[in-house]
Amino acid sequence: MKSKAKSIEIHQGDLPGGLDFGSSVAVDSETLGLKPHRDRLCVVQVSAGDGVCHLVQFPGADYGKADNLKALMADDGVTKIFHYARFDVAVIRKYLGVVCTPVYCTKIASRLARTYTSNHGLKDVCRELVGVDMNKEQQSSDWAVETLSPAQAEYAAADVLYLHQIRNRLDEMLERDGRRELASACFEFLTTRADLDLAGWGEEDIFSH
Ligand code: MN
Repeated sequence: MKSKAKSIEIHQGDLPGGLDFGSSVAVDSETLGLKPHRDRLCVVQVSAGDGVCHLVQFPGADYGKADNLKALMADDGVTKIFHYARFDVAVIRKYLGVVCTPVYCTKIASRLARTYTSNHGLKDVCRELVGVDMNKEQQSSDWAVETLSPAQAEYAAADVLYLHQIRNRLDEMLERDGRRELASACFEFLTTRADLDLAGWGEEDIFSH
């Protein structure tokens, strides 16, 4: 099965008011590169896991109007599901100025649950656990463009469409193997991990001897 959104809604500068994502929202971000201090946040994608994706663009690097998005990221009652949360949480902290919590990371969950493989990229995890093939062709494209191409919008949306389903499957595996608590403790530490990255301890493992 190929990945396909029911609908993709593109917004400028913030989410519209009045959206309800329930108790968990899938989140991803697109930036100009992999260095948060150099490469600005361009797009944030969110989905309630219902096939609908909201894309928020930040034209002119203006993050000052994103009150609804910031409130959602900081909402204690809504778990933010990411794949490789470490990066997105750091970027959201730097550009939106909010601590993103609580968080669930499908990449950490995959590393703890799928010990039989070293393939923890979203494409591999999604194919195995949900049976959906994601197209990764637009991964390295210019996300700061004024108007996203249909291919870019499809790609950005696909990154959040299946995270709820992936989390459910991974939770079953973590439960089976008695690793739920270990996973939860790792998710709680993610805010600190992202802060360490932003503060200059990105490469260094402060837990190593
Ligand atoms: Mn993405």
